[in-house]
Amino acid sequence: CGIVGYTGHRQAYPIVVKGLKRLEYRGYDSAGIALVHDGLHVYKKQGKVSNLEEAVLGKNLDGHIGIGHTRWATHGEPSDRNAHPHTSQNGEFAIIHNGIIENYASIKAELTTKGYSFKSDTDTEVLVNFIQDIKINNACTLEEALRIALRRVVGAYCILLVAKDDPETIIAARKGSPLVIGIGKGEHFLASDASPIIEYTKEVVYVNDYEIAIVRPDELILKNLGNEKQTPFITKLDME
Ligand code: GLU
Repeated sequence: CGIVGYTGHRQAYPIVVKGLKRLEYRGYDSAGIALVHDGLHVYKKQGKVSNLEEAVLGKNLDGHIGIGHTRWATHGEPSDRNAHPHTSQNGEFAIIHNGIIENYASIKAELTTKGYSFKSDTDTEVLVNFIQDIKINNACTLEEALRIALRRVVGAYCILLVAKDDPETIIAARKGSPLVIGIGKGEHFLASDASPIIEYTKEVVYVNDYEIAIVRPDELILKNLGNEKQTPFITKLDME
C-alpha cells in the first residue's frame, strides 16, 4: 500500500526503510526492498517493516539505489513469497507495485504457454514477466518494454522498477495510484505521498496518470506512454 524509492549519493537502505515507516499509517501486511549494488538484492517479509529489518540483519545492504514496498494483498494471501519486490524470471529486474492489474489472468495464461512459471500468486509477478517477455521479443530497453506493457494493462498501478545492470536508474509509472518525486541535489526520492520526502526536500513533482518517470541522481525525465517528453511541474511543499 506504499512505495518508496531513492537514487543518489547516500546509502539507499536507511532512507527507504525510514520512508516505509512513514507510510505505515496506510496499513499493510508485508514489506520488502530491492537494492542494486553488484547485482540485485531483494529482501522481503510478511508482517511489519520491523520484521524486515530483523530479517536483513547481517546482510549486505550496500547500495545507492533502492526501492521499498508495503503490501496490502489483493491477489495472493499475505506471505513472504507474495511480498514485493518481484523479480523477473531471468533475474534482470525487480518491480514493486501498488494497485491491481485487472487483466493479469489472460496475460498469465499467455506467458504460461510460452513456458513462464511463477513463484507467487500475485498479479504483480505477471506484470514483471510480461515486461521481460516484451523486452526480449522486441530487443528493446526496459523503458520501452514497460511502455508497451502498460499500453496493454488494464487496472491501477504505481510501479517502480530497478535493473541489475543499472545502479543509477529507477523507472516509475502510475495510473490511479499516487506517486510523488522529491528533487534533491544529486539525488531523487520517490514515494506514494510526500511524508517520506519532506525531511529531505521541499521541491516535488506529482506524476500524472499514464506518465513514466526515468529517475537518476542528476536527472528526472517524464514521458507519456507515447514516448513524448513531458515538462515536470515542480511544486513547493508547505513547511508544516
Ligand atoms: N496487487 C498487488 C498484490 O496483491 C499489490 C497490492 C498493493 O497495492 O499493495 O500483491
